Amino acid sequence: MGGIFGVCLDRDCVMDLFFGTDYHSHLGTRRGGMAVFDGKCYTRSIHNISNTPFRTKFDSELAEMKGFLGIGCISDEYPQPIILHTRIGAIGVATVGRINNKQELTQMLIKEQHAYFTEMSGGAINDTEIVASLICCKDNVPDGIRYAQSQIEGSMTMLVSADGGLYAARDRYGRTPLFIGKRGNGEKGYCASLESFAYLNMGYETCYELGPAEVLFLTADQITQISKPLPEMKICTFLWLYYGFPTSDYEGKNVEEMRYRCGRSMARQDVENGTAAEVDYVAGIPDSGTPHAIGYANESKIPFARPLIKYTPTWPRSFMPKDQSVRDLIAHMKLTRANALIENKRLLLIDDSIVRGTQMRGMMDALFSHGAKELHGRIACPPILYTCKYLNFTRSATENDNIARRAIMAVTEKEEVTREQITEYTEFGSRPYCAMVEEIRKNLNFTTLEYHSLEGMLASVGLEKCKLCTYCWNGKE
Ligand code: SF4
Repeated sequence: MGGIFGVCLDRDCVMDLFFGTDYHSHLGTRRGGMAVFDGKCYTRSIHNISNTPFRTKFDSELAEMKGFLGIGCISDEYPQPIILHTRIGAIGVATVGRINNKQELTQMLIKEQHAYFTEMSGGAINDTEIVASLICCKDNVPDGIRYAQSQIEGSMTMLVSADGGLYAARDRYGRTPLFIGKRGNGEKGYCASLESFAYLNMGYETCYELGPAEVLFLTADQITQISKPLPEMKICTFLWLYYGFPTSDYEGKNVEEMRYRCGRSMARQDVENGTAAEVDYVAGIPDSGTPHAIGYANESKIPFARPLIKYTPTWPRSFMPKDQSVRDLIAHMKLTRANALIENKRLLLIDDSIVRGTQMRGMMDALFSHGAKELHGRIACPPILYTCKYLNFTRSATENDNIARRAIMAVTEKEEVTREQITEYTEFGSRPYCAMVEEIRKNLNFTTLEYHSLEGMLASVGLEKCKLCTYCWNGKE
């Protein structure tokens, strides 16, 4: 994933840029970057933040950075922001998203535009550099941004500093949100931010949420609309379920509240389907399972407890390193147990989702070995069957790594399953669906296991269903 933040003020913007970018740290683990423009030139800094929080890497440099216009990012992929001196001026670009037709675009840019790219390790080319090159194909930045939006397959939300201000452009289907904050207290200036909570503590108020494909130009004095929003939206449902920050609102729907509604909906689903379990406590798998569990406990009137608590003082990051074995080890080391709430207890454990299931299986074994009597699993979304192809929201190496795919392969005794075969397993409550869930239950050693229905999960968000991306669960684009 990743996060972006930009700001344009009538005074120095460095501290606002620093805090606003830092508030996106939950969205990525690899790199953090900031670039500021003082009217003549850019100052830029990019750091590896794999082992150290963004703040600690940048605070010693803040005194040397000066400018009224800035962009920053937290990235799980390539170094950003990119700064280029071009025939349409000096531009800075920061992006969040994924380019699926990268090869074709790179070849086209090299052949037709004589562009060249900095090769990264492994031969990869920086997606943000491709976006910058596409923008420079046109005679001005607004046309360039529109051209980039029209050429990119996948999803790309971008901030571009140029022409003495900040261009904010949301991706074609609005898969990632983008907000404009206006400075209060009579001061002039605006910020653009993926997270809607990220600027509130700095004295900004939300004044606008961009629609799909919309482009705005911000200066310290005003906002100008460059492109109108398009009607079709497919915003990422996982923003609410898992990775969005609890105090953010997207499309007017708060993340924390959605998770409570989702938990309540799962409790009602259990009652309606006769699957409610008699347990001593309802508990969330920290951190993102916890609000879903609060909702479930409130609806079912079963006491909420925290038998699993994350050791946050030295493990503050919510995402993980790329290496799977290191991720598993960190996930294991992060979670500590309150044995008094486990021994001889029947627990109903709620998580936002299950991807590979290896961490979950390790946790089940540890809880049973510490005396848990029964462990009932409730998952806030349906089984994940497809890997995200829009946001680099990568939580498994391949689709066949997903526990739901592996369960289908086990049930069908096949090493590969076709899209048509998978479709049969997506119908909640159908015989193939139940066989898949039972296979997952056995694999993870739950006493009982139930997934939330797609309908129930989407209703918990509170937006029209057609506006939400459901590709992870049903492969529908
Ligand atoms: S495929 Fe999944 S993670 Fe990707 S945008 Fe859609 S809902 Fe979000």
